[in-house]
Amino acid sequence: MNEKPKYKRLLLKVSGEALLGNQNFGIDPDMTAKIASDIKAAVDIGCEIGVVVGGGNIFRGNTLAAKGADRVTGDHMGILATTMNALALKMAIIETGLDCVVLNAVDMPRITQTFSQNTLENCMSDGKVIVFAGGIGHPFFTTDTAAALRAVEMGADALFKGTQVDGIYSADPKKDPDATRFVNISHDEVIAKGLAVMDTAAVSLTRDNKIPVVVFSIHSPDGLVNILNGEGRCTIVEA
Ligand code: UDP
Repeated sequence: MNEKPKYKRLLLKVSGEALLGNQNFGIDPDMTAKIASDIKAAVDIGCEIGVVVGGGNIFRGNTLAAKGADRVTGDHMGILATTMNALALKMAIIETGLDCVVLNAVDMPRITQTFSQNTLENCMSDGKVIVFAGGIGHPFFTTDTAAALRAVEMGADALFKGTQVDGIYSADPKKDPDATRFVNISHDEVIAKGLAVMDTAAVSLTRDNKIPVVVFSIHSPDGLVNILNGEGRCTIVEA
């Protein structure tokens, strides 16, 4: 085991889908507890953590828009979904004994603190785990882009994207038995090959700010801490 974690300050992206656990809809408390315990294990080896949470387990704006409804209203509903997930994750993180705050891109002063660079820096100096809600706070964006933006704003050493599988594959490993996992790949190759790991805006923002993206399985036991200790299965996207 390494003495120091491979990355010290990290932004973890947790999709709404991850929070489903074994359910078809909503938030599985076993999943929020599992993610919170992964975060605690990383903090215990010296990491500073921000988490961007998605909302797809509850609502996605483009699903509504595909049926002819107003996209902006749909996206506002998606933004509210990310806030619900952020509150659930915060509860689970506090249960582990860590201090945690939700910083929201959208003003909801009775429920969450509003994001600002100043508040972010103060919360980091206080040693809090920060859960970022509300995406970037505007429609037509995703929480992947929010994860890239918050990673830059935090000065993160890496963006960890927790997914359903243990890295980026040449094809969908659930459908194609010949699919192979990339161990390392560049941001440009991810974009050029059209690999469906994060949207292009998110990949290019991390590329332009020289932030590696570590794609790993959110379901793997101790997956996060193993990678931080230089072990475990993942794909690292870096120049
Ligand atoms: N959303 C948005 N702006 C943002 C981030 C999210 O409008 O900056 C809305 C959008 O409708 C999106 C939904 O919130 O579909 C949930 O986010 P996302 O699809 O990224 O969640 P995930 O796929 O990670 O669960």
